[in-house]
Amino acid sequence: MAKKEKSNKGYDALCKTAMEQEYGVTEAKVVSVDSIVVEPWVQMKCRFGCPRHEKSRTCPPFSPDYKETKRILECYKTAILVEGEPPAKNFTEMLVKLEHKATLDGYYKAFALDAGPCSLCKECNIDGKCRFPAKARPSMESCGIDVFKTVRNNGFEVEFLQHKKQYVKYFGLVLVE
Ligand code: SF4
Repeated sequence: MAKKEKSNKGYDALCKTAMEQEYGVTEAKVVSVDSIVVEPWVQMKCRFGCPRHEKSRTCPPFSPDYKETKRILECYKTAILVEGEPPAKNFTEMLVKLEHKATLDGYYKAFALDAGPCSLCKECNIDGKCRFPAKARPSMESCGIDVFKTVRNNGFEVEFLQHKKQYVKYFGLVLVE
């Protein structure tokens, strides 16, 4: 019991860290990995319809397919789900910092999943090595996660954007332990 209380405190501190960074994080929650939904259809959306398919080293076919993602998620029980806003580069920086903080706090398996194609370079070095491997992370959707269902399962509100001027929300995940 004492161990559980200590652990929950650690998760709360991670959420606080996300909120405290000046990167436009609007909400961060501790979630059960059981609430993360992985479906085969998600990567069809990447393959047929996304102009960044095969153009970013963090997107399909480079990112884990949905079967691998399911196996990876079996290694975890708890994650931090974060809602934020553009710019994308700042959101990525925030998630990676959160992953590093979790690792330093003893959650050595911590791994971040980003939102959308990697935005760290103007153009991805698709024919060579990643320029920032310590920071580039695949997005939830590129790994086959149904982001809409996953965030709604955890009480976040999200709607499909009808036009470009609508407020954009980003969702990222840090798998903790
Ligand atoms: S850091 Fe640069 S090279 Fe690496 S995946 Fe992102 S855009 Fe591509």
